[in-house]
Amino acid sequence: MDYLCSECSTQLSKWEIELNELYPVGKLYCEFCQSKHERQIIKKMAEDFANELDFYDFSFVFTLTILTIEFSNWI
Ligand SMILES: [Zn+2]
Repeated sequence: MDYLCSECSTQLSKWEIELNELYPVGKLYCEFCQSKHERQIIKKMAEDFANELDFYDFSFVFTLTILTIEFSNWI
């Protein structure tokens, strides 16, 4: 099954599909378009972790956000 970016209709890579499934922002995006929506995804990740831990540790979420940015640059 093909997954196309809802913004530019580019075929999504396996990683891009996985990322969209893990942290859905309502639409499918390729990596290029995804970067424009990165803040939304990071916010979603932070919320997921906060919910999982059942408390909101600001410093932890901040660290997570930095790691996420470095991780996405590394890819
Ligand atoms: Zn795109």
